[in-house]
Amino acid sequence: MHVVVIGSGIAGLLVAKKLGATLISDRKEFVFLPRLPDAVTSQVQYTKKITHDPHIRQNAVSVDREKKIVYTEKKSVPYDVLVVAIGAKPHIPIAQADGVHTLYTQEDVRTMRSWKKKSVIIVGGGPTGVELAAELSLTNSVRLIQGADTLVPFFAPNVQEYTKKTLERLGVELVFHSFVQKVVQNQVTTKTQTFHADEVVWCGGVRANTLQGLPVGKNGHTVDAYLRVDESVFVIGDCADTLFPKTAQFANRMALQTVANIRRMQKNVALKPFAHENKGYALRLGDTSVLQTPVGVITGNLATLMRKGYYASQLWSY
Ligand SMILES: Cc1cc2nc3c(=O)[nH]c(=O)nc-3n(C[C@H](O)[C@H](O)[C@H](O)COP(=O)(O)OP(=O)(O)OC[C@H]3O[C@@H](n4cnc5c(N)ncnc54)[C@H](O)[C@@H]3O)c2cc1C
Repeated sequence: MHVVVIGSGIAGLLVAKKLGATLISDRKEFVFLPRLPDAVTSQVQYTKKITHDPHIRQNAVSVDREKKIVYTEKKSVPYDVLVVAIGAKPHIPIAQADGVHTLYTQEDVRTMRSWKKKSVIIVGGGPTGVELAAELSLTNSVRLIQGADTLVPFFAPNVQEYTKKTLERLGVELVFHSFVQKVVQNQVTTKTQTFHADEVVWCGGVRANTLQGLPVGKNGHTVDAYLRVDESVFVIGDCADTLFPKTAQFANRMALQTVANIRRMQKNVALKPFAHENKGYALRLGDTSVLQTPVGVITGNLATLMRKGYYASQLWSY
């Protein structure tokens, strides 16, 4: 059974390694996205050379499900089982967003590392927005504009409160209940106010990447309970249209479940539907961290150490 995996991120590289599958992606390096905010101010490792073999170093363009072929710019790659794990990209849903930065690539990290004593506006108070605001506040003056009335709205109330207090202690100016409508010539406009900044970073959400030839839903490729488009094509991680959060934890679990299901296919036994309970969240907030775990909230140096150890072990496993 020839397994082909598209995408060398958290979900795809794991499946390719575990099954010895053919990997398609134009990347030389694996980029561990959860560590990007840390990398803006610290010399932490967040990339790793991809040594997997076989690796076709091209991006996929489309899939012919009848013929069971993936097309890249230059090649046709036949498969028996295909795993699509092409992730997402930042989504800026306003018409005018001149010169707005996002945090998604090594280039973005390099750009932000050079910012010193700048005024920076971060749009979005989700996990990436608050982590980046805390990091940048160590060397810049930062204002964070959030549409909702709390930061990290999907987290427990005591984590929201700790995050708010920490950002305030770090000198981040917080603006709530404000949706940014346009960014023109360094002026950020909401319904009632206009702010000036040297740099603006959009941390307001992602949109799934998609491939021609596969069905598309609200935010990604449509899948069944087994994360499949059909009996031979799985779609996992951020590019799958599911109700599960688009996080590293879920990308990792979807990958492991898909590996197990492909092994079941090889043995001709029934597949299991994807199910996973959230095990919690970790946020690094400049000089401290907060972990939301099933047994409670952990803050301070212990949280920083636990998060660091967990991410190092994750990166090592790739
Ligand atoms: C700044 C930031 C901070 C984050 N922090 C956290 C966090 O603290 N905790 C957490 O759980 N999650 C976090 N996330 C989310 C998490 O990183 C993603 O949910 C996770 O990386 C999704 O894994 P994935 O494999 O689906 O996609 P990715 O890891 O994005 O990998 C997708 C891969 O597909 C490749 N690709 C794309 N298109 C093609 C194509 N056409 N052909 C071939 N290859 C292609 C890309 O090059 C990439 O290698 C963060 C994300 C960002 C951006």
